[in-house]
Formats: sequence, structure tokens, C-alpha cells
Amino acid sequence: MNIEEILNYQKKDFEIIKLERSLNESPNKKIINQIQNIVKDSQSTSAALETEAEEVLLQFNNLKKLYEDNINSFIILSKKESDTLNEAEAAEIIKLTNAMASNLNILEKKLLALAEKVNAILSGYDEAKKKYQKAKIHYKDVSENFNAEKNELSPRIAKLSEELKKMETKIESKLFTLYKEKRQDRIFPIFVEFTSNGCGGCMMELPSAQIEKLKRENMLECENCHRYIYLKQPEK
Ligand SMILES: [Zn+2]
Repeated sequence: MNIEEILNYQKKDFEIIKLERSLNESPNKKIINQIQNIVKDSQSTSAALETEAEEVLLQFNNLKKLYEDNINSFIILSKKESDTLNEAEAAEIIKLTNAMASNLNILEKKLLALAEKVNAILSGYDEAKKKYQKAKIHYKDVSENFNAEKNELSPRIAKLSEELKKMETKIESKLFTLYKEKRQDRIFPIFVEFTSNGCGGCMMELPSAQIEKLKRENMLECENCHRYIYLKQPEK
């Protein structure tokens, strides 16, 4: 097993990782993430407000219908010729009109409360919209800056990738396959040296049976961090 080539490869690959990392940790990238969250939030706020508004509208329409029915009954009742009524009927009319008036009063109050709710929804919607638009304007600037950063780094990454490609052929294919698998799992570095009885990646001490196995096979997957621990080859 020739570990040297894959270690060289890993070293160069690390340069790419550092560049990618610097891009990911760029303040512009952080702002972009924040803005994306604002946009997501304002979208879900808008959706929630829309649902609430639909409900209020339904309530409003129901109340409006009730209100109109009450007004109509009131009008019909009040049109009755008062001189054709007997005393009991007149008393009944008074009782009914009082009930109607109180009903209308309640309905009016309910409508006012609903109107207030509608206003609150509208202003909430407005606020979400403003936040969204502000974020959108900011997003344009920041993403331009971030793209400039990316454009600056991408030729360097491309050059390194090119160099890596050339190195691939020299690497034992078995080792290269192991490397690629772990790289996908975002484990890095992948091959680590066996140091002071433990894994050079996570520093966990290996049980003696594992150390024996490592000595026999020259390589071992760490049970803790899943990197490949290799035994340093004696100097030639
Ligand atoms: Zn480990």
C-alpha cells in the first residue's frame, strides 16, 4: 500500500477546502443566509395573514348577512299600522323592537371588532411586505459582492482541481475510492496518522487489539470519527 500519493492528494485537496471554507465563512455569505431567512419568514407571515384574512372575511360576511336580516325585520315590524294593534300586540312590538335594537347594537360592535382585526392584518401584511422588499434590495448588493468573491476564487479552485486530476492516476485505486466516499461524507482530513496510541483525527485512544490490527493491515477506520488511520511508513 502506497499511502504517500493519497496524502499528497489530500494535502492539495485541503487547499480547495480552505478556499471553499473561506467562501462559506464570508460575511457576505452570512448576510445572504440572514436575508434568505427574512424572506422565508415574511413569506410564511404573509401566508398566515392570508389565511387569517380569509377567516375574518367569512365572519364579516356572516355578520353582515345577520345585520341586514335584522334591519329588514325591524323595518317590516315598524311599518305595521299602530292604530290597528291591540294592547298586547303593541307591547309585543315594543318588546321585539327593543330586542332588535339590542341585537343591532351587538352586531355593530362585532363588526367594529372585525374591522379592527382587518386593519391589524393589513398592517401586519404591510410590514411583512416592507421587510421583504428591503431584504430584496439588500440581497441584490450583497449577492453581487458574494459573486465577485466567488469569481475571484473559482479560477484558483479550478486550477487546483486540474492539478488534483493529474495526481489521481498515481493513486492506488482502492485508496482513492475510500477517499472519495469520505469526501462526500464531508469528513476531512480523511487519512490521519496513528499518533501516541490513538487516532490522529479525533485523538481517541485505540484499544490494543485495534493497534495490533493496524500493525497487521497498516490501515484502520477509526470507530469514533470514521477517518482512516494509517501507520507511518518507516523512512526510506
Ligand atoms: Zn478518530
